[in-house]
Amino acid sequence: MTKKDVTPQTYTAQGFGMMDGSFKGVIPGIYPSTTYEREVDGSYPSGRVYTRDQNPNYDQPEQVLSKLENGVEAMLFSSGMAAAVTVFQGLKPGDHVIAPKVMYWALRNWMLTFGVDMGLEFSFVENGNISSVKQTVVAGKTKLLWMETPANPTWVADDIAAWSEIAKSVGAILAVDNTVATPVLTRPIEYGADIVMHSATKYLNGHSDVLAGALVTAKDDDFWQRLRKVRNAGGAVLGPFEAWLLMRGMRTLHIRVKQASENALKIASALKGHPDLEAVLYPGLPDDPSHEVSARQMSGGFGGMMSIRVKGGEDAAMKAAARLELFKRATSLGGVESLVEHRASIEGEGTPCPDDLLRLSIGIENADDLIADIEQALKG
Ligand SMILES: *Cc1c(COP(=O)(O)O)cnc(C)c1O
Repeated sequence: MTKKDVTPQTYTAQGFGMMDGSFKGVIPGIYPSTTYEREVDGSYPSGRVYTRDQNPNYDQPEQVLSKLENGVEAMLFSSGMAAAVTVFQGLKPGDHVIAPKVMYWALRNWMLTFGVDMGLEFSFVENGNISSVKQTVVAGKTKLLWMETPANPTWVADDIAAWSEIAKSVGAILAVDNTVATPVLTRPIEYGADIVMHSATKYLNGHSDVLAGALVTAKDDDFWQRLRKVRNAGGAVLGPFEAWLLMRGMRTLHIRVKQASENALKIASALKGHPDLEAVLYPGLPDDPSHEVSARQMSGGFGGMMSIRVKGGEDAAMKAAARLELFKRATSLGGVESLVEHRASIEGEGTPCPDDLLRLSIGIENADDLIADIEQALKG
């Protein structure tokens, strides 16, 4: 085996073996300098001019993430929202966008307010319904298909290859929010996606202590160059310390995602058919409506995100959440510690989320401890 064909788990854990150049430290340093010196002839021997999009601390996480996603380049951003919004800023007024009805709520809100103000036109399609995508694309007008799979917080999956075929038939870009599946389980570019987006705040960093975002591209084309300019001009970049912390978190990505997926499957299986639950939403369950599509495009697990619908509606769901002792009642996901959230109340008016739904971000604790906690909380 040469260094070139090592598996993703190995090169991610080692961060491609990049080191600190000055002292042979096995971990690269943090480079806070905002500016770089010119030679007397005016050239920049380091190849860097100014930190806004040239900080050395971006190199390692961008290169590792790009390779993990089977892309050609990656860009880090100050948040997942900044990464996502950059894709929309690459479009022009009048461009038509297709997105799912159920998706990351803050981004959907951005589309409906600032996206519309920018002159973009949006159509929202049913999750898990490919014919509604086919009926909604307009050749010559639809420029972007935005996917999220499995979709937050119902975990309905969509078929990336099928969406890609439709996008290609009208010359539109397919962008996939891969925050929840992570490149450990799904690599959308392998199924025809052009752009992959991450809230690196979640699984990539994995410790609930960095806000960051990323885009990865399948090809270095005009659209990608435009997105590079949007980042540089807009300045929604990551700080060097955050980029360094993100790389530290990413080193353990594979074992974290594997453990969270195993835990979630065990918990979902244990809760399935529970007398106090209306439903357990998890694509890893063999009879889940999204199981077949998910099994086709996810390998190694179905992720750490699941939801439960509690019998007795909103009040019963809120009371069960209040009784949980190991799960922290907090928004966000993808950390090593388990979280619970009543999504309908945080999303507010107009949410498509059922009011009896509790979203669970399953961490890497012992699954039996988590099951016991949920069972005592449901019993009351
Ligand atoms: C958190 C999240 C985002 C937004 O990312 P931030 O880093 O919070 O800006 C986008 N999509 C999904 C699926 C998320 O979970």
